[in-house]
This record gives sequence, C-alpha cells and structure tokens, in this order.
Amino acid sequence: ATSPYDDENIFAKILRGEIPSTTLYDDEWAYAFPDINPQAKLHVLVIPKGRYVSWDDFSAKASDAEIAGFIRAVGTVARQHNLVEPGYRLLANIGPHGGQEVPHLHVHLFGEEPLGPMIA
Ligand code: 5GP
Repeated sequence: ATSPYDDENIFAKILRGEIPSTTLYDDEWAYAFPDINPQAKLHVLVIPKGRYVSWDDFSAKASDAEIAGFIRAVGTVARQHNLVEPGYRLLANIGPHGGQEVPHLHVHLFGEEPLGPMIA
C-alpha cells in the first residue's frame, strides 16, 4: 500500500507555484519542468496535476482521462524537444526500492545526447 499523498511534497509546492520552476509544458493534466540536478544534457520531469504518490497509485486510481492526458503530455514534451528521431529515455522510480525521493508521481525524460546502457 502506498502512503497517503503529502500536500507539502516539493512537487506539490511547484504545482502551487510556491517553489519556482521553469515551465516546459503545462496543460489540464500535466506539468513539465527541468530537473534541478540534471543527469543528462536534457533532464525534464513530467508530473500529473493530480495528487498521486507514485505510478502504482496513479495507475490504480486515476481516471482514464488523467492517464491519457499524462501519457500524451510526456510524448508531447519529447516531440517539443525534437527527441523522437534521435531517441530518449523515460524513467519512473517507484517507492523505496525504486529510489523514489519525491512522493508525487514523476517521469524523468532524458535526452539530447547518447545515453549509454541502462544501469540499475
Ligand atoms: P526521484 O528520485 O524521486 O525519482 O527524483 C526526484 C528528482 O527531483 C531528482 O532528480 C531531483 O534532482 C529533483 N528535484 C528535487 N527537488 C527539486 C526541486 O526543487 N526542483 C526541481 N526542478 N527538481 C527537483
């Protein structure tokens, strides 16, 4: 079972505008902004607008419209950065074993350089 959603998590504060971030994408379902500690030339975080702790929480509880809106937004961000032809990487860390630090679902998008093999 996932912990209850914490409205004081850092991405909730970013969504409320209480912590500054650079908007890369914003619609009804999703928000994207640069990671503060980039692990690739391009490192974007895409988050759903809804209060979901993790992928587990989101996939179990979000409406079809929220899920579709979020997944489409991730694809749109990649297209906006012209990443489709060279390719890119998506990553979601889930829970303690996944190394998730911020308890609001986020997908990491890495690109703009060859990324090498996936490592644990
Ligand atoms: P996780 O380990 O939870 O998958 O990833 C959390 C990510 O959030 C990390 O890559 C970290 O650099 C990023 N991060 C943490 N705090 C902030 C912040 O205040 N602003 C931004 N833009 N990114 C943050």
